[in-house]
Amino acid sequence: MSDDNMKMPSFSEIKYVRPSVQEFRECAMSTRLKLMAARDPEVVEAAIMSFEREMSAFDTACTICMIRHDLDTADQFWTDEIDFFDENYPVVSELSAGVYAALLHSEIRPQLEERFGPMIFRKTQNQRDIVSSEVLEELGEESSLETEYSQILSEADILFEGKHQTISTMTPFLESTDREVRKKAHQAVSDYFMSNKEKFDEIYDKMVHIRTTIAKKLGFKDFVELGYKRMERYDYDPEKVKTFRDNIVKYIVPITSEIRRLQKKRLDVDRLYYYDLPCLFVHGNPTPNIPKEEYFHTGCQMFAKMFSKEPSFFQVLGEHDFMDLFSRQNKATGGYCASLLDYGIPYILMNANETSDDVATMVHESGHAYAALRSIDSSQFIECLSPTLEACEIHSTAMEYLSYPYMEMFFGEAADAYREQHMTLALLFLPYGCLVDEYQHEVYANPDMTPQERHATWRRLEKKYQPDIDYDNDPFYEPGGAWMKKEHIFTSPFYYIDYCLAQVCALQLWDLSRKNTKKAMTIYDHLCSAGGTKTLIDLVESSGLESPFSVDVMKKLAYQVCDYLNL
Ligand code: ZN
Repeated sequence: MSDDNMKMPSFSEIKYVRPSVQEFRECAMSTRLKLMAARDPEVVEAAIMSFEREMSAFDTACTICMIRHDLDTADQFWTDEIDFFDENYPVVSELSAGVYAALLHSEIRPQLEERFGPMIFRKTQNQRDIVSSEVLEELGEESSLETEYSQILSEADILFEGKHQTISTMTPFLESTDREVRKKAHQAVSDYFMSNKEKFDEIYDKMVHIRTTIAKKLGFKDFVELGYKRMERYDYDPEKVKTFRDNIVKYIVPITSEIRRLQKKRLDVDRLYYYDLPCLFVHGNPTPNIPKEEYFHTGCQMFAKMFSKEPSFFQVLGEHDFMDLFSRQNKATGGYCASLLDYGIPYILMNANETSDDVATMVHESGHAYAALRSIDSSQFIECLSPTLEACEIHSTAMEYLSYPYMEMFFGEAADAYREQHMTLALLFLPYGCLVDEYQHEVYANPDMTPQERHATWRRLEKKYQPDIDYDNDPFYEPGGAWMKKEHIFTSPFYYIDYCLAQVCALQLWDLSRKNTKKAMTIYDHLCSAGGTKTLIDLVESSGLESPFSVDVMKKLAYQVCDYLNL
């Protein structure tokens, strides 16, 4: 996005044309041939750059299509276009893998590495390690099992107080300040999962076996090894992640016990049951004191102050229709930020509906958007514009903390309650994220466990990470069923720890911002503008933060957070 607003198109002006797979194929083939024959780095660069433009155009068309579809899910035109991309994106990925393979095997690779940097080579090699024609059938089976699980979950029909509800429309009842309501709501969700338990067990069992087969066929010891490759963990391994989880158990779990003790006192209950946990405050969670129509305007002012720049990036994006903030009929749920690579402009989609989540989500997605804008020139390769997923989540999570001093603008007198809730939820999340992670390590290291053994494993680990949870003998949760509610466990294996690693990096920025805002903002900007040119630890350390695996960092943060929350 240029500073000169005149040149920037608005989202509605951007034309969509379905890209030609045939033209893409021809470009990929000719690039591949050029790369194989070239002895001159400049020739290679020219060839690969023109291929990058094709890739960028294809990706941009796909992103436009996804956004337009999500803005109006009832429009059949976009549904058909989505089908086109679902069918053809794998073809395009395979063709581009062929091009990069030629780069990897180039006779002048050392000169090319010097010219392009090591990252594109590492990524290409990684990609080659995780896919091969021998496992295509199994990959197809894996993905249809994932779709099957998500489908069942999205069609969940929970009868609650005479009305049909989905998992997500149950949320307000699960958090209700009325204990009877939330108890019944939690029981209704538990009943739903209990009645689908066998089906979910069967799907997961098949997933574990198919993933293990894929891993073995590709030459890995087990799916843990392949899972790490898939998540592009270039500079840390399961051993390091174990140390991270141990640090959380030692330094964060005791804090969460204290949070729960105080919550029990606040709610004035004899025992804090599992259905009490989402209700942190007696009077409910803080909500914005401005109408949602003012979110954008207030956001513009906040980001202008935060970055000492007017108009802020947020304002420029909004004025050009690169965001759609409110929930409505026929709009996809959830929230995300997606980049239109050809234009170098990110798009923010979310579903605000006047809850405290609105502001956190808007700020979170804006963090992704800011990083996308800052990193647009960080690499010649579109694959290296964004870092690996944990690092992307630092951009967004850190923005949530950096916005703390401005929360009065959204919450007025409830700003303190908002910050307390936000920080509390962040702390409670850390052990939960580690629990999900250790569970998956156990499952994939022992793929022949029976479903019952998996449930018992979950319950055992739950006691380690969430020692205060009291299921009141619920027939689904007590024997260890809670993991079935976590979609990531089924559809994105080993992803979950990323949020925890990002959180620990973002908390370092929070801590620093209280003492030296300017320095924190400089580090944040550095992190964002580096894009995907570095691996996680390299990126974090070269920006001026410490590795999230450091025990000293964990100790220090635990102390600062206790102080902040008056624990
Ligand atoms: Zn995010």
